[in-house]
Amino acid sequence: MNDDGINLSERELFFRHLALTSFEPPAIKFQNAQGIYLYTPDGEAYTDLSAGFSVNNLGYGQPEVIEAIRKQAGIYLHQTVYGEFVQSPQVQLAARLVRVLPPNLDCVYLVNSGAEAIEGAMKLAKRVTGRPFIASFVNAYHGSTHGALSIMGNEVLKLKYRPLLPGIVRLRFNAIEDLKFITQEIAAVVVEPIQAEAGVVLPEGNYLQALRKRCDETGALLIFDEIQTGMGRTGNLFAFEKYGVVPDILCLAKALGAGMPLGAFISSKQNMDTLAYNPSLGHLTTFGGNPVSAAAACAGFDVLRSSKLWETVEKKSQLLTEGLHFSPLIREIRSAGMLIALDFQTPQLAVSMLRKMWAHRLISDRFLFCPTALRLSPPLIISEEEAKNINKTLHQILKNLEDGKNLD
Ligand code: PLP
Repeated sequence: MNDDGINLSERELFFRHLALTSFEPPAIKFQNAQGIYLYTPDGEAYTDLSAGFSVNNLGYGQPEVIEAIRKQAGIYLHQTVYGEFVQSPQVQLAARLVRVLPPNLDCVYLVNSGAEAIEGAMKLAKRVTGRPFIASFVNAYHGSTHGALSIMGNEVLKLKYRPLLPGIVRLRFNAIEDLKFITQEIAAVVVEPIQAEAGVVLPEGNYLQALRKRCDETGALLIFDEIQTGMGRTGNLFAFEKYGVVPDILCLAKALGAGMPLGAFISSKQNMDTLAYNPSLGHLTTFGGNPVSAAAACAGFDVLRSSKLWETVEKKSQLLTEGLHFSPLIREIRSAGMLIALDFQTPQLAVSMLRKMWAHRLISDRFLFCPTALRLSPPLIISEEEAKNINKTLHQILKNLEDGKNLD
C-alpha cells in the first residue's frame, strides 16, 4: 500500500506522484502570480519570459478575465457535450472571432486544446476533400496526440510511438522546390506560418503565397496552425494577416482561452457542415468550448482588441533584445513580435545562459527542435520599462558568460 506521504513536502509529492515528462523539471513552487511575475511562497518574484509557453498574453491576474470566470462559474459550468445546446459564452466567442476574420473563416468549432484543434482540422480536411494524405513540415510541432504527432516534423519524438498515421508527406519549410510534393492526393497542408518550436523560423520572401498558390492548384486545403502565433503575439492579431495569406482552416489555442484551456478550428460553414452528415457526429468532444473557458476567452479577446496590444508588441520586442546581437555568444536573433529566439553559437551556451537566467529569476526555456536557442515570449502586457530592465539583465548575464564568470 502507498504510504500517505503525510510528512512529505509538495515538491517531494510532485516527484513521487505526478507523471513527469523530463527528469529535470525546475520544480519551483509558485504561490501566486500577477502581471508578468510569478511569486514563490517566500515572495520572491520571477519574471515570466515564456508566458506559460505563449498562453498568458495578457499576463496573470487580468481583472476582466478573472471577473468573467467568476461570473460564468456562478451561472453554469458544464451543460452537455459540445454542439447540442445554445451556450451563450460559446456563441459570443464564435461571433467575436468571426467578426475579425476573413469571410471564408465564418464557422468555429471549439475544442479543449491545441492538439485537439489540429486533430479536428485534419479530419475536416479529409471530409471536405475526400483525400487520404496530409502534408506537414520538418521541425513542425502541432501537439502530442497520435494524429498531431504523426505530422510532427521530428523523428526522435515519434519513433517509439510508431505506427502513426500513414500517408504523411514531409516538406521542408521555405523550400519552394518541395511544393511539387503537394499533389491532388493531399487533403491538407498543415503549417505554422512562423515555425515556433523550430526556433522561430520565419517564412522567407513569398513562400506562404507560393504555398497558398500550390494548394489552390491542387485542391489541397491550407491549414494554418496559429496556436502559438495567434492572439497578438507576433504583432498582428493573427500572423496570417502579416503575410496576406488566408488559410482554409485556422487553428487556435493557447492564448485563446486567456489562461483557461480552450482551442478552436475555424473554417467555412460549408466545410464544417461535412462533419454533421453521412455520418453525422464527425467530431465529438464533451468539454470542448467549456463555458467558463469560453467566457474567459471572450473577456480576454475584448481586452486584447480594445487595447490593441499587438500594436505595441514590436517596439517592446526591440527594447527587450536591443544590442544583444552584439554578443559574440549569440549567432542570431530571430523574432516575430514577442516570439523571439536567442540563438547561441552552441547548445552548451544556450544551457549556460538558461541556468544564469533562472538564477536571475528570469523564466525562459528552450525550443523543442532548436537546441542552440532560448525563447523569449513574455506576456504582451510587459511594459517598456520592464522590457528595458530585462534587457539590461540579459546584457549583464551575457557579459559574465563572455568573461567566463561562473560558466556552468
Ligand atoms: N501547435 C503549436 C504551434 C504549438 O506550439 C502547440 C503547443 O505547444 C500545439 C500545437 C499543441 O497545443 P496543446 O499543447 O494545447 O495540445
